Amino acid sequence: MRLTRYFLPIIKETPSEAQIVSHRLMLRAGMIRQASAGIYSWLPLGYKVLRKIEEIVHQEQQAAGSIPVLMPTIQSADLWRQSGRYDDYGPEMLRIKDRHDRDMLYGPTNEEQITEIAAAGIRSYRDLPALLYHIQWKFRDEVRPRFGVMRGREFLMKDGYSFDIDKEGARHSYNRMFVSYLRTFERMGLKAVPMKADSGPIGGDMTHEFLILAETGESAVFLDRDLADLTLGDREIDWEDAAQLEGIVDQWTSSYARTDETHDAAVFEAQVSEERRVTARGIEVGHIFYFGSKYSEPLNAMVANAEGERVPLESGSYGIGVSRLAGAIIEASHDDNGIIWPEAVAPFEVAVINLKQGDEEADAACEDLYTKLTARGFDVIYDDRNERAGSKFATIDLIGVPWKLIVGPRGLKNGVVEMACRKTGEKQELAPDDAINRLADRFGRT
Ligand code: ATP
Ligand code: MG
Repeated sequence: MRLTRYFLPIIKETPSEAQIVSHRLMLRAGMIRQASAGIYSWLPLGYKVLRKIEEIVHQEQQAAGSIPVLMPTIQSADLWRQSGRYDDYGPEMLRIKDRHDRDMLYGPTNEEQITEIAAAGIRSYRDLPALLYHIQWKFRDEVRPRFGVMRGREFLMKDGYSFDIDKEGARHSYNRMFVSYLRTFERMGLKAVPMKADSGPIGGDMTHEFLILAETGESAVFLDRDLADLTLGDREIDWEDAAQLEGIVDQWTSSYARTDETHDAAVFEAQVSEERRVTARGIEVGHIFYFGSKYSEPLNAMVANAEGERVPLESGSYGIGVSRLAGAIIEASHDDNGIIWPEAVAPFEVAVINLKQGDEEADAACEDLYTKLTARGFDVIYDDRNERAGSKFATIDLIGVPWKLIVGPRGLKNGVVEMACRKTGEKQELAPDDAINRLADRFGRT
């Protein structure tokens, strides 16, 4: 993309309505624009990031054995009356009437809808397990929408649901999602810690929230430092191997990690030695929850088990805050100059900066880099504006591009361009083709 042809409405002044850094930077970098309270348009740069986050979620969901579907945003109130949630949900639910005076709603979540689909489509235990997910807009009329896309009213969520014949199967499904979430967040360059969540009347230990640590997080978190250092890395996962998954889940759940909702100071002090105790704040980016037959019973989602008896489906639900992640990643990764995108979700991976637009040699070298990088599959932004170098750096650093290739007549005289890393600030002079190869190696684009 040539910057002169792009739509990038950068804001110079710090927007006064934004209380936290991610919201400020998303507005300043022209990623989003508020439409009304808690409702945003995603401008080209923001939309690119959203799509990259979505793509990682899609890939990791499917790798773990979940199947994509797409359910509507508008739902009929009938199913919600059957489950009893139509009245329970309260004012967060946006209720609508259609022209025939039928009660409809903008879905805040989809347990009822997917359970109805499962009930109609699953005949017996042989059809199980079934894991289905979608990435779809939700609406919750939050009392206090704030922090930009982090607590919106309209937001994009990945919500997945599992169906099994018994609790053992449900545990395997739960563990699939637990491990899949570790992978998903690691791929986004995030350190998300699973924390014991409140299971309410369902009881049991199969509910976790995944939080990334950030000062501006809405939850107080308490954890064992050991957990903050744990990574999955590139270990080979066999998703059908229940024991392997259970082993990984055990590894992550044997150390103390809780939010203010489930925190118990006495247990924390007894389990974690003083120097390992971390008290911080966190942003919830995911939540997984086993709820057994909570919806399958009232919605009559019954299937035949191996003995021929009809039993209610055992289920769980698994959410990821896709649009919230765009803000959360910025909270976790920025500096005074702007956003620092992890490579995996960066809207542009490389910026070509022409220090002297209009100089024949500099222009030709930039065009060449731009063409070659694009051909190698890179998302490139070429800053071809007729601007001072300082202003170009400010823009590219604000929008967080991980790598810069800086091209000027002086370097070209010696046959080099400068390659600079946004995250570390490291710089290196290289021949243009060497710079391309270096990046190709790094990104695995050969
Ligand atoms: P919270 O406690 O933050 O209100 P929740 O527990 O109600 O969230 P879930 O129903 O578990 O949320 O939804 C799954 C995920 O969707 C959450 O982990 C979060 O990342 C995201 N999410 C929930 N509410 C919002 C919102 N208002 N704006 C953006 N993302 C949200
Ligand atoms: Mg939650």
